[in-house]
This record gives sequence, structure tokens and C-alpha cells, in this order.
Amino acid sequence: MTVLITGGAGFIGSNLARHINRVSPETEVRIFDDLSTGRMSNLEGVRAQFVEGTLSDPAAVDAAVDGVTAIAHLGALGSVPRSVDNPVGSHSANLTGTLNLLEAARSRDAYVTFASSSSVYGANTALPKSEFDWTRPMSPYAVTKLGAEAYVLAYTHSYGLPTLAFRFFNVYGPYQPADHAYAAVIPRFVDAALSGQPAVVHGDGQQSRDFTHVDSVCQTLWSAIDRRLNLPDPVNLAFGTRTTLLELLDVIEDVVGGPIAREHVGSRAGDVRASQSDGVRLREYFPDVAPTPLKEGIESTVDWFRRTAEA
Ligand code: NAD
Repeated sequence: MTVLITGGAGFIGSNLARHINRVSPETEVRIFDDLSTGRMSNLEGVRAQFVEGTLSDPAAVDAAVDGVTAIAHLGALGSVPRSVDNPVGSHSANLTGTLNLLEAARSRDAYVTFASSSSVYGANTALPKSEFDWTRPMSPYAVTKLGAEAYVLAYTHSYGLPTLAFRFFNVYGPYQPADHAYAAVIPRFVDAALSGQPAVVHGDGQQSRDFTHVDSVCQTLWSAIDRRLNLPDPVNLAFGTRTTLLELLDVIEDVVGGPIAREHVGSRAGDVRASQSDGVRLREYFPDVAPTPLKEGIESTVDWFRRTAEA
């Protein structure tokens, strides 16, 4: 079987390629990526065919999908603030790109898993979140994810294409970079801790997230692909934890073994206050996937940062 990973040079995609190499060495991995945020260095030691191209180009996407059995569609411009700065760019990569991908997949009956996002719940403050709670995106990024996920599920209903849409929550772990303007909170905090800089906290730090280690995400994606699990509704890919940013800093301090100064700045537009899955559907359909405890996950992340700095 050949699995296509769009966005495979990115954080989650490169972890998934490694995971598939390890658990199913006979599976061929093909990566399609425009390297807009991904890096070839993430793929060091990965066994995969690399195809450079953009999801916005239907012909390039069609060629990349040819001959594949399954697709992990992870390619997108991530980050809420990036989409607030450039909504049209996010729309083109995330929404038009997904439509191009689905069109290519449907003529070949390729199984599609998709990375939607917890940001789709947006203004809905109910906690914890079930997949059947109402959605109200608060950023262009969240709109693209809700629209793309709706397309993915509609392709099952309209064309019988086997699909599964996951709503990722805050994923973290090795290969998640800290060195760009839209970096996620865990790499930013770990980088600050290791370089002796203050951690920049947007708002009061009481905003909370259901942090999910990338290993659990890869196990879940592979399990879906391996079983060709087709569900008509999305699945939250998080286990139901709720950690505030200040609690997260405490865990990082514990792991690095020293205090981290905190610098509070203004809140960011489009950010949600609290995010937590109920974890029910994930446990129902993926009972074998175990969550990585936060401290253990932070240890593996700090290890990766230290090894990268030494290299
Ligand atoms: P990432 O930025 O590291 O990876 C995305 C990859 O997609 C990059 O390699 C990038 O170069 C590629 N890409 C972007 N636009 C493209 C285009 N037009 N054509 C081809 N390739 C393109 O981000 P990630 O954290 O690995 O996220 C992977 C997926 O998971 C994304 O779809 C993201 O929206 C989703 N997601 C991530 C999180 C998280 O916490 N990391 C949370 C929710 C959803």
C-alpha cells in the first residue's frame, strides 16, 4: 500500500512518516508539500518519496494522489494569527487545497483522513466539547478547517468516498519549531526555558488547552488508515485534559529544572479561552491509543530541543 501524507515535511506529517516507517515498513510513504512552513530537515532518516507542489494546484495534487491507497491530509497553513494576517492565503491552502485533494481522491477511491481543528468550536464556551456541540469559528483559520471538514464528510455522503475527519486539539512534541512568528505555545515556552529568556504569555495565562502529544496523534491516524475506518461525523483527537498556560509553565520548569520568567502581553485576536475534548468518541473508536502524560511528553520535547541545539 502507498500512503500519501500532504504536509509531510511539517511537524505532524514528518512524525507520521517516521511512525509508518516504524510500524509498517512495507508501506510506501509519499509526501506532498510546498515547504511553505515544512522543512526538508524534518525528513532526515525518513523513507519516503518527496513530491514538491502546492495544494492550490489541482494538476499537481492529482498527480500526487495517483496510485495511492490512503491519504493523511495534513497540508495546510496552520495558526490562528497567521490567518488573521492573511485570510486569503489560508483559504487557498486549506479550503481550496482540500477540495482539490478530494477531487483527486474520489476518482481513485483513496481513503482520506483529515486534520481539522478544535478551533471550529470557537465561541462555544461549553466544556468539555463533544463533536455534536455547535461550532462558531472565531478566525479565518477555523473557518477553513470547518469548511474543509464539511467537504471531507460530504464526499462520503455524496460520492461514497471513505473518509475520517479528526479535530486535532493542541498537538505538541519533537519537530515542532519555535523559530517563527506563528510558533505554537509549547515550543515557544520550551525554547524560552532553554535559552534563559522570559516566556511570553498572551493574556493572564489562565487560558487552557487539551495538549495532545504527537505520538498519540500518529498512532490514531495510522490506526484509522490501517482499518480504513470511515465515520460520518468528526472525531476529537484529544483525551480530555485541561491545562492552563501557567500550569504548563510549571511542568516545563519541573522538566528543565529551573524557574522560567514570565512576560505577560496582550491577548491575541481569534484565540479561544478554553479548549477541552470529552474524549468519548476517540476512546470508543481507538481504544488501543493511550495518551502520553503531559510531563512525559514535555520531557521528549525538551530532549528533542536539546539534541537539535547540539547538532
Ligand atoms: P506544519 O505547518 O508543521 O505542517 C503543515 C505542512 O503543510 C507544512 O509542511 C507546509 O509546508 C505544508 N503546506 C502548507 N500549505 C501548503 C500547500 N498549499 N501545499 C502543500 N503543502 C502545504 O503544521 P502541523 O502542526 O504539522 O499541522 C498539520 C495539520 O494539522 C494542519 O492541517 C493543521 O491545520 C492541523 N492542526 C494542527 C494542530 C497543532 O496543534 N499542531 C492543531 C489543529 C490542527
